[in-house]
Parts: sequence; C-alpha cells; structure tokens
Amino acid sequence: MNMVDIILKKRAGEVLSEAEIRFFIQGYTEGSIPDYQMSALLMAIFLRGMNKEETGQLTMAMTDSGDRIDLSEIPGIKVDKHSTGGVGDKTTLIVGPIVAACGVPVAKMSGRGLGHTGGTIDKLESIPGVSTALPKNKFISQVQEIGIAIAGQTANLAPADKKIYALRDVTGTIDNMSLIASSIMSKKIAAGADKILLDVKYGSGAFMKDKDQAVELGKTMVDIATAVGLEAVVLVTNMDKPLGLKIGNCLEVEEVIEVLRGGGPEDLKEESLELAANMLYLAGKGTLAECTSMADEAISSGRALAVLAQMVAAQGGPQDFAAPEYTLGRAPYRKEVRAERDGYVSHIVTDHVGMASGQLGAGRMTKEDIIDPLAGIVLEKITGDVVRRGDVLATLYTSDESRLEQAERIFLEAYEIGNQKPEELPLVYARVTQAGVEYL
Ligand code: URA
Repeated sequence: MNMVDIILKKRAGEVLSEAEIRFFIQGYTEGSIPDYQMSALLMAIFLRGMNKEETGQLTMAMTDSGDRIDLSEIPGIKVDKHSTGGVGDKTTLIVGPIVAACGVPVAKMSGRGLGHTGGTIDKLESIPGVSTALPKNKFISQVQEIGIAIAGQTANLAPADKKIYALRDVTGTIDNMSLIASSIMSKKIAAGADKILLDVKYGSGAFMKDKDQAVELGKTMVDIATAVGLEAVVLVTNMDKPLGLKIGNCLEVEEVIEVLRGGGPEDLKEESLELAANMLYLAGKGTLAECTSMADEAISSGRALAVLAQMVAAQGGPQDFAAPEYTLGRAPYRKEVRAERDGYVSHIVTDHVGMASGQLGAGRMTKEDIIDPLAGIVLEKITGDVVRRGDVLATLYTSDESRLEQAERIFLEAYEIGNQKPEELPLVYARVTQAGVEYL
C-alpha cells in the first residue's frame, strides 16, 4: 500500500477501504507520512467527501491512535457531554452539577478556549486555587466520592486527531462534515463514557452557520456512535447570539452561580435544563419530561450548587464558594459601550463578540497566550431588544487599560442595529437521535 495511490483514489472520488484509512492514520501519527501528502489527501477528502462507512472507519482509526480512558471503576452509566463551542457557553459548569446531583456520575474531560470560543477548563481555573490537572486516580476517586470531576485532557487521547486538526487548520480543510464529525467523535469515544450528549451549535458564533448544516453534522455523529455501539443524542442549539449575558472566565462562573441559585438569564437556564434533562434521559433516569423536572428540582433545592461547591473545594478552590458573600472580584478597568443610533439590535455577529472578549484578555489567539481571568463583557442588550442612541449595549472589563479601545471597536462592529425587529431563532432547533430528527 502506498500513500500516493490512496491520494489518487480519493482524488478520483472513490471509496477508501478500512485498511487504507488505517494505513494513512497510523503512518501520519508515527511520522512516516509527511505533511505534504497528508495535506493533499485531506483536500481530496474535503472536495470528494467520505461516505458513512469511511467516516466511521476514520473515527475508529483516530480513536485507536492513542489511549482509551477506562471508567469501569465508577459504577453507573457515565454520560459525556460535548459542545461544538461558542461565546458565553458555560453550560458544562451548570449541567455537570445538576446531573451529578441527580445521581448520575460525571467524569468529564474538557478543553481550553481558542480563538473566539471559550473553554470550560479556563473558566474553572479562573476560580482561585482550582486545579484541573487531576491524576487518573484522583479523577476517578473524586467521581466515586462526590459524583463529579472536571479535568483537563492529560491522557494521550486521539493523537492522530491532534496532528491532523493542526494541519487542517492551515490547509483550508476544517469545515468538512466527515472531518469534523470524526475529529469530535474519536476524542469522545476515547474518553470512555457509555453515552454521549452532543450540543451542536448553529449561527454566527458557531462552526456551522446554518441550522440545517448543524443537523447534518448531528446526524453524522449519531451514525458514528451507533456504528460503534454507543448511544448519542444531539441537540442543535442557537449560537447566533451569545449564550447568557456574561462572557469571560470569572464573569461566566458568576453567571453559573446565578443560574444554580435559580436566577440568571432565561436562555441560559432553559438550554442548561434541556441539556441536563437529555443527559439524565440517556442515563435511564426516566422520560424526558420526568428528567426535566428532576433537573429543575436539583436547581430549586440548591443541591446542584452544593455539588459544584464540593467539586470546587475538592479541586483546590475556596471552601466558601457557594456562600452569598463569595465573590471573584471585578477587573480594574471598565468601559461602557453605547449605541450609536436608535433601533432594534437586529443581529449580533457572535464570533466577533468572542473576539472582542479575547482582545480584552479573556481568550487566546495562540495556545501560548496567558488569560486574564477577570476580563470579559457583560451584555445589557441582545438580539431583538429596542435601543435608543446612547443606551449602554455592554460593559467591557479588563486588567489592561490599553486593550479597551480596540475591543470597543470590534464589539461595535459585531452589533447590527436596524429598523426591524428580527425574527426570533429557536434556542433548541432540533433533537437528533438514532430514531431520526425531531424539530422543536
Ligand atoms: N471540534 C473538534 O474537536 N474538531 C473539529 O474538527 C471541529 C470542532
């Protein structure tokens, strides 16, 4: 077998065999296949596509390129959650404690933010003292003792994906359905859960700008899970505006606490409840309606907040995290951004809001950048709101005053103010399962 023949075969639009897929994944991971050949193959896949079988085989070849986490020491059904990422998406920190408070173990590996998207690990580490570098024994024993642990990805999970993703990023081959689905699913399968809930975002802050493209990605991922004997459910959710009103690491943790105390913005609360209910459903806790009431009760009783506080303390954070007087503080510099005309907020270019937050210091443009945990944005107006010239649209926060001017410019470009009230887009557009697509 040789790589040139595989490239030519895919360039001609033919179907690759499992042996050919395993050959190039293994060769590229080990270094015997160079970047230029892998780049050519990726472009051929991008242009010609892969069928369902090839996509499943690619996923498993990438899963098998590294370790698989063994969660069998933790009793019960383990349900993982994954979001395709966005701006203000802090749902893992809400949903994880809810699900754990309902008796379903949460052993979660999460990522850091890059570009306009935030990452759960950065949010968690913005709480003073919290560590996410948990050795395997500590990770497992914490889940056994308090029902939840959220750690950074330390194990050698799907190294083929890591290498290929970096190459896709610089060869214009990111946004292909088979490549995205296999990239996400290879890591999820390696992470060892029994069931998987996937939150696939659509809109201006998401990979998939179009709702129906997001449904297609969801279907592809459910098919992959089914092929390897795992059950997955996909919710296709709105990222055409930021989720909640707070963006930035400490600010988002603050909003997590608001929701777990029974308040917080409606969209964030509703989406978190939907996600939690679906995880409980996957864990066999009842019908979706029963699981929704269970999730609601975990918030209203205060049990979910108590679980989050226990996890924070177990991972080195403050003991009084859930106390009403506990505060993460505010950045020393702030600037209010005001509307330049009357009208409605007709659209928010959401990835640009993420970039404005990154410019304030809340995100990183390269993996090496250091995050300012206090930096971020508090939104006052969102899509559909009426504004008058001079109204505050948002307040920007940073520890570095020199970042404010540029961040304000980026933010103002992201907010479109028009004369018409825009059509309201669904918060949860569709639910995809093995049985098909349900539009909500
Ligand atoms: N997230 C991933 O992990 N991989 C992709 O290809 C896209 C989003």
